[in-house]
Amino acid sequence: MPEWLSLYYREPLQLSHGEGRYVWDVEGRRYLDFYGGVLTTMTAHALPEVTKAVAEQAGRILHTSTLYLDRHMVELAERIAALSGIPDARVFFTTSGTEANDAALLLATSFRRSNQILAMRNGYHGRSFSTVAVTGNAAWSPTSLSPLQTLYVHGCVRTSGPYAGLTDGQFTDACVADLRDVLGQTRRDVAALIAEPVQGVGGFTSPPDGLYAAFREVLDEHGILWISDEVQTGWGRTGEHFWGWQAHAASGPPDLLTFAKGIGNGMSLGGVVARAEVMNCLDANSISTFGGSPVTTAAGLANLTYLLEHDLQGNARRVGGLLIERLRAVAAGLPVVREVRGRGLMIGIELAGPDGSPSPEAAALALEHTREQGLLVGRGGREANVLRIAPPLTLTVAEAEEGAAALATALRAVQHAVDPKERP
Ligand code: PMP
Repeated sequence: MPEWLSLYYREPLQLSHGEGRYVWDVEGRRYLDFYGGVLTTMTAHALPEVTKAVAEQAGRILHTSTLYLDRHMVELAERIAALSGIPDARVFFTTSGTEANDAALLLATSFRRSNQILAMRNGYHGRSFSTVAVTGNAAWSPTSLSPLQTLYVHGCVRTSGPYAGLTDGQFTDACVADLRDVLGQTRRDVAALIAEPVQGVGGFTSPPDGLYAAFREVLDEHGILWISDEVQTGWGRTGEHFWGWQAHAASGPPDLLTFAKGIGNGMSLGGVVARAEVMNCLDANSISTFGGSPVTTAAGLANLTYLLEHDLQGNARRVGGLLIERLRAVAAGLPVVREVRGRGLMIGIELAGPDGSPSPEAAALALEHTREQGLLVGRGGREANVLRIAPPLTLTVAEAEEGAAALATALRAVQHAVDPKERP
């Protein structure tokens, strides 16, 4: 396998099975899972409702292709269209977030007859040729060759960079001015803005609420479409909202919305939602052989039904609120923690060295110590110095307390290692 496919931990971890919010390694050790395989086990491990739907469908037929009608696919498309907030919506299923964003870029550039795209600095949208071309995070963009001309704008990195010292209102105004300035420098029409409401790989950073509504006013002056990449932020993870874009609600829904990761609770299911005139603008055939297969859409339907019936968005808000409070209390006495941020069950812990600079070393160490404490967390940020906390949305209060205690122990050990003089 390629060298760029990296593993977590000094001693790689091999997982054998999971249940609820816990996973076990091959030696039988149990871990509380605060990462869900990169926000993908969204509901729970081995959720009986999803397992049953997958097993039953697998026993009937694994694959038919989109040449034939499939009840699960049609029903899931109808439910997602209704939930999306996009009027007269159409849904196209893919196998991944990358493929969903690639489809959204194809639609937007075809509809607008332009290959110019606005993207956010520090963003991540996938690994394909078109999606690395709109990925502002250099660590994840291995080539500058591109089918698109991309213009990067400010907005998601709130606490560092040239606008860090501004208030939220001033920050939004500065970003809108930057957007206008960038648009003023291009002689061609721009097709779309693609943006994550909360940047995932970028370290769970987000703009002030309302920034995309302010952007939307500018985009509308030019007819530029807005693609909201909800691959990490969708389905209620952020607690207050079902979609990340709703923190900018004054804008109304985006023109296109992409999803993947959590909807299949581990099955490879993604897709793009767009209003009919945008979705239907392609004048050639298009098909994703595996996109929306009967097994993945059966899983998606069972998962979505469970999520809505158990109000997991409300759970993310309540338990996530408690978890972030606990983590802020832990961080208060630890200079190695620069910031605890996030909303719902999407929480970032940014780490810095004694001189205040980003510390990837501290984050690497924190991963080792949390593992020792029986807790799995993720890592992200432009400098790989942010711990990413994104447990399954069924997380209980007791499990949140358990994870917060493990993080407290781990972060104290990191504090001592990076600055032995500081005795927390
Ligand atoms: N968009 C966002 C916001 C993501 O976080 C990711 C995956 N980390 C992708 C797109 C790409 O999804 P996938 O890995 O399923 O192709």
